[in-house]
Amino acid sequence: MTAITNHMPTAELQALDAAHHMHPFTHNNELEQKGARIITRAKGVTLTDSEGNQILDAMGGLWCVNIGYGREELAEVAARQMRELPFYNTFFQTTHVPVIALSAKLAELAPGDLNHVFYASSGSEANDTNIRMVRTYWDEMGRPERKVIISRKNAYHGSSVGSGSLGGMSGMHAQGGMPIPDIHHIDQPYWYGEGGDRDPEEFGLARARQLEEKIEELGAHRVAAFIAEPIQGAGGVIIPPASYWPEIQRICEKYGVLLIADEVICGFGRTGNWFGSQTMNIRPDIMTIAKGLSSGYAPIGGSIVSDKIAEVINACEFNHGYTYSGHPVSCAVALENLRILEEEQIVERVAQDTGPYLQEKWQALADHPLVGEARIVGMMGSLALTPHKESRAKFAADAGTAGYICRERCFANNLVMRHVGDRMIISPPLVITKEEIDTLAERAWASLDQAAAKLKDDGLMKAAS
Ligand SMILES: *Cc1c(COP(=O)(O)O)cnc(C)c1O
Repeated sequence: MTAITNHMPTAELQALDAAHHMHPFTHNNELEQKGARIITRAKGVTLTDSEGNQILDAMGGLWCVNIGYGREELAEVAARQMRELPFYNTFFQTTHVPVIALSAKLAELAPGDLNHVFYASSGSEANDTNIRMVRTYWDEMGRPERKVIISRKNAYHGSSVGSGSLGGMSGMHAQGGMPIPDIHHIDQPYWYGEGGDRDPEEFGLARARQLEEKIEELGAHRVAAFIAEPIQGAGGVIIPPASYWPEIQRICEKYGVLLIADEVICGFGRTGNWFGSQTMNIRPDIMTIAKGLSSGYAPIGGSIVSDKIAEVINACEFNHGYTYSGHPVSCAVALENLRILEEEQIVERVAQDTGPYLQEKWQALADHPLVGEARIVGMMGSLALTPHKESRAKFAADAGTAGYICRERCFANNLVMRHVGDRMIISPPLVITKEEIDTLAERAWASLDQAAAKLKDDGLMKAAS
């Protein structure tokens, strides 16, 4: 076989891709017709594809490239670590310096008494750990009937059988025998889409109280934990009303239910603080981390655990772990990423400088006729597309039709913006400059214009009745 390189014609690479590569969350036969876009290199916030297009990546890869692409320091650290100790496990009474250093650093950064880290290679694996850890915690506490974990519809917690069950994505539950037993879902605090005529704060309280109702229905003695993203990411960047989280916290404390904050997206500066729990004023017992932990440069995830839980888990043998738990190269890369985030004051910039600038530009998109709301916290934002602003109407066409058209226009305008149904979402690298933010906003507006024109031409500007 001849070497497959960047220099091959795009069509040939696409054909090989379609022949041998099964893409995640993709209808692969449809993709074969369209051809996958081939990304060849990246620097800062800009991707280059095999046709030489320069694309502004407003998604930070998959919500993860917080420090931007092309940071030499991370490549250096990875190479150095590979030469020194490419792998060793942490199972049998062994450890290594990168995992020690990263754990101490995370304990320092994480709020409250979240001082202990159990590693995985991804967010999905970390949430699988959480399922077993909270159940084991209650077993060890002499409360083995506490097995139920409550989550939310339209939550995203990963794609393994366990984490996908925690998630509340109906399309995922329809395939492969999910959810596993003893996982229950309550409604999401999505005021724009589901709040109707209710006041947002009143709606937020009502949605939080569903947790209390569910606990009462199942029996508090059976409920181990509640898991949620501080701000839902893959569900469409859904920012809960201010009334929501304080009520959730109250209910968890009242019933002794453990609170797991899934910080896989919100963590590491995304919301303008180190963790989304700080932005939303939550005191979790466990935080799930991944993505921004290494800015995506190496696969790593984990659970940051409170003193209270670690004390119990550490007193037994927890029969759980992954070959790559605390992988030395990933730990070294993550540590270097955290050093850059800290020394370059990137989180502070999101809070005080470029973040507010992006927020202003983003919120101005709400003036576009196709946009029903523009919401943003830190550097995660969403637009709701609507055929009728005043009533917040949905489109008569299948959900996602308008969003897909808009995303295609974005791509054509060299902007990566994702759609979730008919919501458009962004999560750019946190190092995005003001000039790049201007470009993002211009391309977004132009894409919305073109999408609106196409929707009109295709007779799709009709509201669902
Ligand atoms: C992406 C994501 C996960 C899953 O992480 P993977 O690394 O893809 O397994 C879990 N939770 C949230 C909130 C996520 O956004």
